[in-house]
Amino acid sequence: MTQLPLRAQLASALGRSAATLSRMTGRGDGSVIGGRVGLLLEPDLLRQLARDRKLALVSATNGKTTTTRLITSALLELGEVATNAFGANMPAGHVSALSQQKRAPYGVLEVDEKYLPEVLDTTGAGVVCLMNLSRDQMDRAAEIWLLAQKWRRALSGKPTHVIANCDDPLVTWGASTAAAVTWVAGGQRWKEDSWCCPECGGPLDRKDADWACRECTFHRPEPQWVVDGDSAIDPRGQRWMLDIQLPGQANRSNAVMALAVADTFGVPVERALPRLREVTSVAGRYTTVERDGRFARLLLSKNPAGWLEAFDVADPQFPIILSVNAQGPDGRDTSWLWDVDYRILRGRPVFVTGERRLDLALRLDVADVPFTLCGTFSEALAMQPPGRVDVIANYTAFQQIRSEFGRAV
Ligand SMILES: [Zn+2]
Repeated sequence: MTQLPLRAQLASALGRSAATLSRMTGRGDGSVIGGRVGLLLEPDLLRQLARDRKLALVSATNGKTTTTRLITSALLELGEVATNAFGANMPAGHVSALSQQKRAPYGVLEVDEKYLPEVLDTTGAGVVCLMNLSRDQMDRAAEIWLLAQKWRRALSGKPTHVIANCDDPLVTWGASTAAAVTWVAGGQRWKEDSWCCPECGGPLDRKDADWACRECTFHRPEPQWVVDGDSAIDPRGQRWMLDIQLPGQANRSNAVMALAVADTFGVPVERALPRLREVTSVAGRYTTVERDGRFARLLLSKNPAGWLEAFDVADPQFPIILSVNAQGPDGRDTSWLWDVDYRILRGRPVFVTGERRLDLALRLDVADVPFTLCGTFSEALAMQPPGRVDVIANYTAFQQIRSEFGRAV
């Protein structure tokens, strides 16, 4: 790799020192502050750090952090990989990740959906992985359509190879201006944001996995990779049992996206898959914390589509604790709670906590789901019989539980 210019070397070194200082003084993992310091000293730092590396960018509404981790594990087959493992997914986080692993010839970066065009322009990444697009707490359908349109513009005219989920019509539309696309039939659990054709606004007809616009030519492309239950079918038609440790259909889909990305980097399935099977939890997700014989498995869910994925993972034979906050990163407006169908929880012991427990309680009441209201998460946990319980929490509620319970078992 060529040497960084002096100014970039200095900016990168000072950023790393700021990050170390921030970590030592207990202000988080320091990756955002370190990157900000670096960018302040050298605004062109991300471009310079990205040069000469083979990069993959990973973006979606849900599953970014997990898929980034899975791709990183697979690419370790090739050598050192720089990555923003803790979800700092804007340019400051990318600067920090690349400057901490200066010599890594490969990089896998999780990118916030809104920043994808900017980060793609700056880094010139050769590979982009796009999984799904649905409304977040604050977004509505028109906003995610605009986002997909920005992806189209950003990808157009670049040599980037895109790996995209063709079961999501909006992702398909967002990816289809790219010079080369590998389509993955990754499934789509949340369909509420894709009843209309993104190209012309006409109705989308769906038949099994297939979809097509009734009024124009926009339709589902033929997939090269297919997620089929617990197996993947590769472009040669060969079937592979996934057998990964991360639970749920959404993660099996993430794993097949990762296999397709690894394949474009020259890592075949037989080498990538064993690496994916080693991943057991991602930034605290799916880990289990224990107190007094209660084993609570933590599931993070940040938006309506995420709740459906969490319901798929949660085991109906155990009680479930739901915790909802509405601080900055969660979105202050909890009206999205009304978009989720909670009836699947009927018949399970349900416990509700978090700062906005009353909002959730009202929603469950309307859906005829019986529940117990608890003042705190600890109180909810103490009410469980010894054994396992599933926990679904949104962003800051999840972080609070993690910091209170510390180490996972
Ligand atoms: Zn159409």
